[in-house]
Amino acid sequence: MSTTIEIEDTITVGTLAEKLTLPVTSLITELMKNGVMATVNERIDFDTAQIIVGELDLDIELIKKEAEEAPMRQKHVASETATTRPPVIAVMGHVDHGKTSLLDAIRGASVVKGEAGGITQHISAYQVERKDRKITFLDTPGHEAFAALREHGAQLTDLVIIVVAADDGIKPQTIEAIRFARKAGVKMIVAINKIDKEGADENRIKQQLSEQNMLIEEWGGDTITVNVSAKTGKGIDDLLDMILLVADVEDLRADEDVPGTGLIIEAHMEQGRGPVAVALVEAGRLSVGDFVVAGATYARIRNLESTDGKPIKSAGPSTPVIMTGFKNLPEFADEFIVAKDEKAARSLAQAKQTDRKSDAGKLDINSGELIRMINRTNKLTELNIIVKADVQGSLTSVNDSLKALDTEEVAVRVVGSGVGAINDNDVHLAHTSGAIVYGFGVSIPPGIKHLASRDRVPVRIYKVIYELIDDAKEELTKLLVPEIVETSIGRLVVRGIFKTTKTEVICGGEVTKGKLIVPSLARVMRDGEELAEVEITNLKRGPQDAKEIIEGEMCGLSFKSSTRVDIQEGDHIEVFSRASVARTL
Ligand code: GDP
Repeated sequence: MSTTIEIEDTITVGTLAEKLTLPVTSLITELMKNGVMATVNERIDFDTAQIIVGELDLDIELIKKEAEEAPMRQKHVASETATTRPPVIAVMGHVDHGKTSLLDAIRGASVVKGEAGGITQHISAYQVERKDRKITFLDTPGHEAFAALREHGAQLTDLVIIVVAADDGIKPQTIEAIRFARKAGVKMIVAINKIDKEGADENRIKQQLSEQNMLIEEWGGDTITVNVSAKTGKGIDDLLDMILLVADVEDLRADEDVPGTGLIIEAHMEQGRGPVAVALVEAGRLSVGDFVVAGATYARIRNLESTDGKPIKSAGPSTPVIMTGFKNLPEFADEFIVAKDEKAARSLAQAKQTDRKSDAGKLDINSGELIRMINRTNKLTELNIIVKADVQGSLTSVNDSLKALDTEEVAVRVVGSGVGAINDNDVHLAHTSGAIVYGFGVSIPPGIKHLASRDRVPVRIYKVIYELIDDAKEELTKLLVPEIVETSIGRLVVRGIFKTTKTEVICGGEVTKGKLIVPSLARVMRDGEELAEVEITNLKRGPQDAKEIIEGEMCGLSFKSSTRVDIQEGDHIEVFSRASVARTL
């Protein structure tokens, strides 16, 4: 009888070898024979492990350990003295049904006005005011973000708005959104959008909803629908009223007199400000000067702002805030908590760091993915791709290989994928999302080809997986910011100064290394420290202008600088060239 070994969805090569009581090298060799290049610490998935074990003829059977549901984070349990808090809303629905437009319309109509005025950048949450009450919206439309929140057991949302276009009806992603909300046990309101459009048919939507077990109120069910137009603004107030009504029924409360807790919903680096985190306070208060631990990092809150950029001193439950002061970048969905002092904050963060290291394989993948999703408006550049393949197996392989191309700077974002020929939906989605359509072993009907060329949607069909991946890689490479490469050309030691003005210096000296050329860039250095970066505009050998002065020669030179350079004898002028070089992945 064969031995059974239980492993998880993925396993490191090292651990698998250990479990199989095999030398790691034998396992790696076997993997290589099967075309999988993996090192000891790399993870392989269950299927690969199973194939390899089969090939090894070990009389061992692998069985998959059922993935445990991520433990639900304990939601704040309100005490008797807890006070009413604003509801937290997420918006979901099929692509193009108007999620973004609706979020913009709500935001534009009634964003809590900040004294600092105006919204300067996209932030992943905002608050609006209606009838002197506040409503918090998570502005991360899309299922990925919602799924990610769920994955972390972060029941951030109290209510999901399912957006359905009145002229289009319920579509696969609508159904998916309903499923998500149901699974998360979150209340829903259906916003029937685009009601202004010709062809809008609210009754059809209501009918389709009932087919999804969502019977509307007027037909005896409990599904709330609101007719809206994100374009004209019609019905937005009704929607907000309805949200408040549901919030009242749910009786949402939180304590304010407990240490502040909540979740990080966005984190990015900002020049001059360092790590900037957007967080949603769940209970307690968050105040400037507080020590806060978030995941494996901590902060003394330096600045706290509302999401419209207005400085605030503190924030209570259901309030999204922007904060600075973190030592490192916290991660999306990290829980934060106010610590009593810096020592406590530091040790909590360190403990978490150790935790994460021991769980590195698992976490690296997740956190990277999450950060990427949430950072799509930030530094990361993404290449949108739609993948169609002949069979599910090849679709999975293509998608997995595409994911493997991701780096911290550039990443593939699969906006759509499926099995079957390329169709008009794919082209339409590619057109609206600026994506490339990759087909693997599938065809493109002539009509669709025509549509794609009309809409200038790139469609590329491959029969060999690595050719497809190479192409995607090349596209990603184009998104990389070129590298700036500096090459040293020569050095001069200053022996005399003839003239200095605010922007120009004329001096002379000896070339001690390489050569000086004109025009060129240079740095003025003193004791190894850079004083200024300058531009050499003239070189003179004796009284004659020269193009180039070589090592061992004396010369005069003029340089320009944007700031005054207080040059002295003995300073060095180091000449270099700077070029931007295309990078490779
Ligand atoms: P999302 O993909 O769900 O975020 O959809 P968008 O908000 O990007 O909207 C898709 C398209 O529908 C855009 O061209 C919008 O201008 C349009 N749209 C959204 N809401 C309305 C509406 O209420 N009426 C009309 N006529 N067009 C709308």
